[in-house]
Amino acid sequence: MTLSFDPQTLRLPFYHFIGGERVDSAGSIEMRRPSDGKAYGACPVADSGLVDRAVQAAKTALKSSGWADVRPRERLNAMHRWADLIEQEAFTLARLEAVSSTRPIAQLIEGDIAVTAEQIRFFAEFADKEGSNVVPTSASNFGMTLSEPYGIIGAITPWNFPISMAGWKLGPALAAGNAVVLKPSEITPFSTLYMAELAEKAGIPAGLINIVLGDGPTTGNAITGHPDISKVSFTGSTAAGAAIMENIARTGIKPMTLELGGKSPQVVFSDADLDLAASAITLGILSNAGQVCVAGSRLIVAEDIADTLSKAIARHMANIEPGMTWDENTQYSPIISERQLCRIDKIVKKAVSLGAECVVGGSPMNGDGYFYEPTLLRGVEENSPAVTEEIFGPVLTIQTFKEEEEALALADHSTYGLAAGLFTRDLSRAIRVTKTMQAGTVWVNRYGRSRDHILPTGGYKSSGIGKDLGREVYLANRKSKSVLIDL
Ligand code: NAD
Repeated sequence: MTLSFDPQTLRLPFYHFIGGERVDSAGSIEMRRPSDGKAYGACPVADSGLVDRAVQAAKTALKSSGWADVRPRERLNAMHRWADLIEQEAFTLARLEAVSSTRPIAQLIEGDIAVTAEQIRFFAEFADKEGSNVVPTSASNFGMTLSEPYGIIGAITPWNFPISMAGWKLGPALAAGNAVVLKPSEITPFSTLYMAELAEKAGIPAGLINIVLGDGPTTGNAITGHPDISKVSFTGSTAAGAAIMENIARTGIKPMTLELGGKSPQVVFSDADLDLAASAITLGILSNAGQVCVAGSRLIVAEDIADTLSKAIARHMANIEPGMTWDENTQYSPIISERQLCRIDKIVKKAVSLGAECVVGGSPMNGDGYFYEPTLLRGVEENSPAVTEEIFGPVLTIQTFKEEEEALALADHSTYGLAAGLFTRDLSRAIRVTKTMQAGTVWVNRYGRSRDHILPTGGYKSSGIGKDLGREVYLANRKSKSVLIDL
């Protein structure tokens, strides 16, 4: 079966999904396909009234289904059926995502969707394996911590991996006995809507998942400020994370998980396997055209191997072919919007004007879509925006060092601390440097996540608060109550 499709023939869901019903409202945000720049519709925006309707639907569903108190295995079984449906409907989900996002259809089917189904099963398994605890107290007392769901979780997701992000938010929240009101990005909402419909088909009670479409200032604010939403789980930029913190502080304190931006270093020592490093580093920056929170965008390399390594990376970068996200042969993604394409170009041109050498790339590609050339910048100023700002594009800067200490100082010279890569054959150095790095995840002799869902992910510094994945994300969707009984 061919995976390629014609985007014109696709019927797209421009509605909200509240209490198991499709709810229409007028579209007001213009949507354009990144692959060919064509306008194709308008995303509806849920106002505070519609957000409140979603919250009330969640409340009713929690009460009538008894979701928080059913035998945990019932939650687990429903979630396994949901994962089965996600796999069965992979092609439909992938088409809904490929049309609006930058993810090529083949990568969606083999990667995002297959992994999301697996992760939903992983989250489900915690439902009957984590619980309340009896704690040691004196002989005259009986002490325990009761583990309870929050109730309604308000989730907000970014545009760059919509299916994965919906899975990361909905999976643990539901396994832990909560209901969810989720706002996907206004740029890529369709696959999230379909995920919610599949959940209901799988037997997850209507109203436990509510999807409201819209932008940050209107719909997002209404979610984070709603008094009946007990916890906020957000993934997106550091700027939006800060705005959410402010809104939560203004409207009533509630816990939040914030998974934010990054500017991750990839550090290569002289003794590294350079072939392995060159291909891992290239993939680490070119996957989704650099539009990945953990994109390894700062190469920090030992001076004596810098020439060899940059030539090897440049060779890998030269082999990249752009393509439409709906073509099954496409591997290299477009940039999400024309505005973002221009922003990337401005940062690159600025770096060059400050004296950087553009080893490869450095310009938008020809054509109607928003493609940017894989770009390698050498001799960049430490404080140039190319080194300090999250570019969210296929741009790798190169900085060199002589001593390990200098490498660590360069790696840590960032307000972000999401991830870091490290390439060396010296085991002692690998462990020593890993322990020093200020990043929530450190990859050694590889770059990027695979099916290691048990490892939590989250940022140090301005890259966030709290964790997704791992056991931590299940616990983050429950609160604990301390009980002490006097015997
Ligand atoms: P964004 O911050 O612009 O938007 C993310 C989501 O937040 C969208 O749904 C948006 O509508 C909403 N939003 C924006 N302002 C808001 C506000 N004031 N209140 C409530 N909601 C608001 O980010 P984006 O461009 O969609 O995604 C890219 C960013 O996400 C990058 O910075 C990337 O690093 C980050 N990201 C982080 C992770 C992670 O796990 N740490 C994963 C993916 C993406």
